Amino acid sequence: MSASLHIPEEMMSELHSHLFPGDHDEHGAVIAASVMETSRGTRLLAHRLFLAVDGVDYVPGQYGYRMLTADFVMDCVLECAELKMAYLAAHCHGGSTSVGFSQTDMQSHERGYPALRDIVNGPPVGGLVFASDAVAGDIWFPDGHRSDLDVMVVAGYPRRILRPEPELAPAGAGEQFDRQARLFGDRGQEILKNLKVGVIGAGGAGSIIIENLVRLGVGELVVVDPDRIEPSNLPRVVGSKRGDTLPQLTHRRLGRVGKFFERFRATKVRIAKRHAREAGRTRMDALPISIMEPRAAEALVDCDHLFLAADTMQARLVFNALVHQYLIPGAQMGVKVQIDKESGAVVDMFAANRPVIPGKGCLFCNGLIDAGRLREEATDPEELRRQRYVDDDDVPAPSVITMNSVCASLATNGFLMSVTGLLDPVDFGWTKHDPRTGEFFEEEPRADESCQECSEEGRRGRGPTRRLPTFYRG
Ligand SMILES: [Zn+2]
Ligand SMILES: [Zn+2]
Repeated sequence: MSASLHIPEEMMSELHSHLFPGDHDEHGAVIAASVMETSRGTRLLAHRLFLAVDGVDYVPGQYGYRMLTADFVMDCVLECAELKMAYLAAHCHGGSTSVGFSQTDMQSHERGYPALRDIVNGPPVGGLVFASDAVAGDIWFPDGHRSDLDVMVVAGYPRRILRPEPELAPAGAGEQFDRQARLFGDRGQEILKNLKVGVIGAGGAGSIIIENLVRLGVGELVVVDPDRIEPSNLPRVVGSKRGDTLPQLTHRRLGRVGKFFERFRATKVRIAKRHAREAGRTRMDALPISIMEPRAAEALVDCDHLFLAADTMQARLVFNALVHQYLIPGAQMGVKVQIDKESGAVVDMFAANRPVIPGKGCLFCNGLIDAGRLREEATDPEELRRQRYVDDDDVPAPSVITMNSVCASLATNGFLMSVTGLLDPVDFGWTKHDPRTGEFFEEEPRADESCQECSEEGRRGRGPTRRLPTFYRG
């Protein structure tokens, strides 16, 4: 079974500057990581970083060149045991794109790890060795088996992958993807094929995101949306057909009988799945349920990227938690059209794309999750459904496909540039586009250090050791 370690970008830079300060010497650290078993292998999610102080915690070794002191190891192991997380000791070697453990390293694992595994009592323990651009790992699991670390994913923007050795060149992307592979290479196409992406909401913006991802050749999608298609959705939902709304059976003329048949209209996820099957080869897990259902959120925890294209505060809350707790980069998008109730004039109008990246601020600390609205949604979802199109602050009232396409394409483009390594590694911003003037506005997201959602004290990297804010099922 394969194993991967996911780490927020900030934590990776902190670790990297500690291990490679430019003195070409050896340095050490420990990572506490939550552990998740998935159908795609074991995922380790870096939660806390302990830097070993040279000469104090990291000293000349008894067997090897340097070692962590017994005190430092014990402090870290006990902390990991309390957090119910894996203990991963890291040190550095020279070199750049390849790295491996020395014989002395392996002997020290064999001497030390069985005892540490007993103390941590549940989660695995292991070692990591870094070169400036590579990492190898030796993970010891509680059932006695050992596994190498296949990849380390820096869950930033751009997303970066570190391995023990440079990867072999992939096979050609093939005729179908020739034109786009000319942009990001056969390797880029291969990356897309191996990704699992979650889309929350399969309506106006979500259906365009799905269309983009399927045509790009993304391997696997999880799509969550509880809604059925209505005639008023047809102008915006890509892949929908007039027949999906059962126009004959649900016509107003039919009164209560027509109302009854509305419950048989096609779900938006079913439309998405049909459309995807006709357009590409993407496997799709289509869930016609609310993101508040634990089952929906659980289907998204091992995704590589998330898109939020749903318009409720509850969806924002769960999406935001998934991004930070499971270290999955994501983007929230939406269109706002504010109309003056008296005059009917357009007051404000924009299409927004907000990348939400672990450790780089969140929807909560930027005031985009409204506690009052959350409470409302939790108490009476049906009432809210009627109201939300009228007096809502930040989610769609009027809606048109062209504005949805702008934010959906900005979000998918950002994802594409990020995973294929084309994204310029500069500070990313949140973007708003005003279609009336053609202008784009940039906004820097805030990251509140004590945020209960995105900080280390909050959910960041806690994985399955913390409950997601879904409906509680005892
Ligand atoms: Zn070594
Ligand atoms: Zn936050």
